[in-house]
Amino acid sequence: MKTTSGERNMQKNSKTSFDTKCVHSGIDEYEFGAVVPPIYQTSTFKFKSAQHGAALFAGEEKGYIYTRMSNPTVEAMENSIAELEGGHKALGCASGMAAVSTAFGALTSSGDHVICSTAVYGPTTTILNTIFKRYGVEVSFVDTSNNEAVKNAVKKNTKVIYVETPGNPTLAVSDLKTISEIAHKNNAVVVVDNTFMSPALQRPFEFGADVVLHSLTKFLNGHADVIGGVIVVKDEETYKHFRKTLNQLGGVIDPFNSFLVHRGIKTLSLRMDRHCESAMKIAEYLEKHPIIK
Ligand SMILES: *Cc1c(COP(=O)(O)O)cnc(C)c1O
Repeated sequence: MKTTSGERNMQKNSKTSFDTKCVHSGIDEYEFGAVVPPIYQTSTFKFKSAQHGAALFAGEEKGYIYTRMSNPTVEAMENSIAELEGGHKALGCASGMAAVSTAFGALTSSGDHVICSTAVYGPTTTILNTIFKRYGVEVSFVDTSNNEAVKNAVKKNTKVIYVETPGNPTLAVSDLKTISEIAHKNNAVVVVDNTFMSPALQRPFEFGADVVLHSLTKFLNGHADVIGGVIVVKDEETYKHFRKTLNQLGGVIDPFNSFLVHRGIKTLSLRMDRHCESAMKIAEYLEKHPIIK
């Protein structure tokens, strides 16, 4: 995979190429003509009057109240990732694991069943086996690279099929399109951890997934100076439900880290091209190496 820019640029329903979106997505009009979002490093926002505050809390007027609920710098980064994934809106989280735990918190109740890929990030397996099990959520770990195994694991109470593809650490690849069809036939939702690919190389919504999440700590930020996560959803109703869950559980990202991630995204396409080129060189070197089969 020398370069995938061509394929990347063929995003559905969009006239702007993916590479251009990396630079411009989530950017709005700012005070003094700033071309990048200012860092609104504030916990709270002032109300013009008691009536204004009441209207904001009632949702009758648009505006900011408290950074755990929303913040313009965080929102700019969220909008950028929602656009890159081809989703509706995104929710910035304090870490990749905050995104994973918030997603399960939003989607599962006691008595529900989850199908999870055997090859997933370790702590994802752990929270399903400990915290969520304690809350009465049943889980089956399945080799999701095998469509038949996924089909056979579905139960009446299956609520979520959680897939990481390629999975960490074995890089097992799952067929998102078929898994989404299996899930939707059974009224379950497909959640994809897209951390290892980033939207530059894979956009799960295009294959039917319902929720996409990332550890921003890895490719999206790309500079090893932030811990962060994000959840992307496809419609307003799901967004509102997830936003409420995240506000209440509290695992939000802060404005400064959001600024750094948004800045990192500008070079996402360039970095992913180089990652692919470098990986290919290493693979070719190892393939020809006499002591390696
Ligand atoms: C790192 C990682 C996570 C967790 O992200 P943190 O930001 O470290 O909490 C989740 N999924 C995958 C695939 C990861 O590589």
